[in-house]
Amino acid sequence: MTFEEIRALDEQYVMHAYGRFPVALDHGKGATVWDVDGREYIDFTAGIGVNALGYADEGWQRAVSAQAAKLAHISNLFYAEPYVKVAQKLCTRTGMSNVMFANSGAEANEAMIKLARKWSFDKYGEGRGTILTLHNSFHGRTLATLTATGQDKFHNYFFPFPEGFRYADANDLDSVEAVAGHDVCAVMLEMVQGEGGVLPLEEKFVRGVADLCAKRDWLLLVDEVQTGVGRTGALFAFQKYGVRPDAVSFAKGIAGGLPFGGVMAGEKCRDVFTPGTHGSTFGGNPVSAAAACYVLDRLDDPFLAQVEEKGAYLRRKVEELSLPCLGAARGLGLMIGVEVKGEQTNSQLAARLVEAGLLVLTAGPDLRFLPPLVITKEEMDKGLAIMKAALS
Ligand SMILES: *Cc1c(COP(=O)(O)O)cnc(C)c1O
Repeated sequence: MTFEEIRALDEQYVMHAYGRFPVALDHGKGATVWDVDGREYIDFTAGIGVNALGYADEGWQRAVSAQAAKLAHISNLFYAEPYVKVAQKLCTRTGMSNVMFANSGAEANEAMIKLARKWSFDKYGEGRGTILTLHNSFHGRTLATLTATGQDKFHNYFFPFPEGFRYADANDLDSVEAVAGHDVCAVMLEMVQGEGGVLPLEEKFVRGVADLCAKRDWLLLVDEVQTGVGRTGALFAFQKYGVRPDAVSFAKGIAGGLPFGGVMAGEKCRDVFTPGTHGSTFGGNPVSAAAACYVLDRLDDPFLAQVEEKGAYLRRKVEELSLPCLGAARGLGLMIGVEVKGEQTNSQLAARLVEAGLLVLTAGPDLRFLPPLVITKEEMDKGLAIMKAALS
């Protein structure tokens, strides 16, 4: 199909919940993708942080095809090998205790919220179900995770929203204390706020929150849906901050392009869910789990060290372009935010870059880069050259 044919069907038959770029993508390899007309693009988006190993990774294809040919789905009423292997790999590499699987970030966070509330209910009874989150956070699009999201623009249209969330300012411990109360059971944070603008939390703040949680017997919940699975140069970003969360959610990159996610629990919360208290038909799906096993095996320490190096390279090189519309670059590993200056908005700059052959994202008022973790130096240099030509 041509781009125009695809666009016409989208117009007629698909709900318009997304503002799309005028490009129909067809196939990819590594961090390079081609549209239906055969035009090449360098990808600094990885499908919003999903395609950790880029496009068409051969080992990933083998892992997925082999599992699809064997057993594509089985309900959670039976045991199967792929999901137990993923759980083992995640726990041994993070020090967490066990895992509950879901299919997306929002669902992983729903599970984490339910876990926290039931933990508190089991220990203290009713009336202690409030979760503190941060302004500028993003936790998902379901009703509860939209409410957990600390941005007013998301608290519209869909009333009534569920109760039980209050918001504090990032990097301001006093503001967390100010919204505390006897009804609180947990604090939920992203180590680097992603959709909110690629805003890394300060280490001092994160440790302060962890101390406060210990003092008040609140759970520390970390949303690693975007920061997890190698994105920041550690397997999970909390490992860089030296804290021990009580629960950690993950999704996006975990299966390298297939829907998958879940929540890891620490020792305190390992037995909170009992048969019948939570569930998901697709959770722990064998094909997604086989993909996740492969992704986790690839993300060994040398691989993660490279993510760190590539991120530092890309941030430095973007700044060295000295483009008048771009300011400082920030972030951890290959989770990068670049300040937008001057007359043009981030969306206008993104549209120009896509037109010129470089796929990028926006976050807050700025540009955001989440390239596949396997991006090569050559691909980064190509992307930077496109940026220079398009934005000079
Ligand atoms: C993307 C994202 C989510 C939501 O994930 P979905 O898979 O879209 O439901 C939740 N939290 C964070 C931090 C995210 O970046």
